[in-house]
Amino acid sequence: MFQPIDLSVFLACIVGVVLFVLLCLQAWYDRRDSILVDHRRLTTVFSCRQCALVFVRPRRREEASCPQCGTSNTRLKF
Ligand SMILES: [Zn+2]
Repeated sequence: MFQPIDLSVFLACIVGVVLFVLLCLQAWYDRRDSILVDHRRLTTVFSCRQCALVFVRPRRREEASCPQCGTSNTRLKF
């Protein structure tokens, strides 16, 4: 039923499978890191004109409410 295979062919198959899995893991971690970096990079800084609290909100936006006093503020422009 089973045919004997050469040891070197068997080891080559094992090494090939391990290399394939490592390459897939590297691609997955690279993609995940690039998504996380983009998410962290795309933030907007606000300074509350009522209580002077400086806070950050995700994504690009022009207005946000202060988490401390609720005042609507426009983003800081540098
Ligand atoms: Zn405030």
